[in-house]
Amino acid sequence: MTAEPSRARLLEGGPIAEEIRRAVAEDVAAFTARRGRAPGLRVVIVGRDAPSAVYLERILRGCAKVGIDAGFVELEGEATEASVAAAVRTLNDDPAVDGVIVQMPLPPTIRLRSVIEAIDPAKDIDGIHPLNAGLLRLGYDGFLPATAHAAIEILRRSGIEIAGREAVVIGRSAVVGMPAAFMLVKEDATVTVCHSRTTDLAAHVRRADIVVVAAGRPGLITGQMLKPGAVVVDVGINVVDGHIVGDVDFASAVEVASAITPVPGGVGPLTNAILLTHLIRAAERQAPFDRTLPPTIPAVRPVLSGGDR
Ligand code: NAD
Repeated sequence: MTAEPSRARLLEGGPIAEEIRRAVAEDVAAFTARRGRAPGLRVVIVGRDAPSAVYLERILRGCAKVGIDAGFVELEGEATEASVAAAVRTLNDDPAVDGVIVQMPLPPTIRLRSVIEAIDPAKDIDGIHPLNAGLLRLGYDGFLPATAHAAIEILRRSGIEIAGREAVVIGRSAVVGMPAAFMLVKEDATVTVCHSRTTDLAAHVRRADIVVVAAGRPGLITGQMLKPGAVVVDVGINVVDGHIVGDVDFASAVEVASAITPVPGGVGPLTNAILLTHLIRAAERQAPFDRTLPPTIPAVRPVLSGGDR
């Protein structure tokens, strides 16, 4: 008699995101009572295409639910690099704004670097400023890119053992692949980073206890490539025939993996909740010395803040 193949446990982001949002709502209420204002988030949008509008809508709604004062600054698609950087600096200087996000992608005429360098690292809640990227690289505390953070947090909160395990990250982007790899190293995994020039992707994936896929290629990872019992985190978001799918061929992978994040419903829902935790952290770190703060919140000047605010 052959045993029935067991299907992987689903690592759903929704319930974890809900739990995080409840905690954030409490922190926001405490901050608001203490400071006399809600924590503030602003999103800079340059030219509004449909995916950006949906993303923005989601962020604003998520913030409103937990009491965060969120808004956006919209620049027209033809805006210059200097005007985008100037808009970011205005938000840096606004004491009611604790976190700034620049909606990607930017129009091709604008160099990403000039914009990310304009963000005050203390308000860079999506961890794209070089200082925050450097802090992560060195293993220090800074702001993490929210998607990569969500990919690792879903493992932690699902009780998946990371230390000592073989992890393969597919994708080496500055916003997802590389930060996820550095976080896994920090969690004591042994990490391999694969990318578009990797010659034998399947050979690497087959060794992995944990596979984090962020390539933007639907169906790139199949069940046949996985080691039985592997844990799969699918960060990919692709639209195929009008449906959102990940980078993993879910139907085959779910028969081989021990746990897998669905798309949609896995990393995606967690990303926005994680971003809210970064915002409250930014707000608390930028708050000037406050004698009413409980002792758990360090009454010192924020490590990452630039000027004397
Ligand atoms: P990107 O295009 O910047 O990077 C893709 C990476 O995948 C590159 O490093 C590339 O070398 C690698 N790659 C491409 N084809 C490959 C192949 N055939 N084999 C191995 N590696 C290959 O993309 P990104 O911004 O890092 O995003 C990755 C995916 O994550 C996309 O699908 C994106 O939509 C999704 N994403 C999801 C969220 C979320 O909240 N879940 C947020 C941001 C991005």
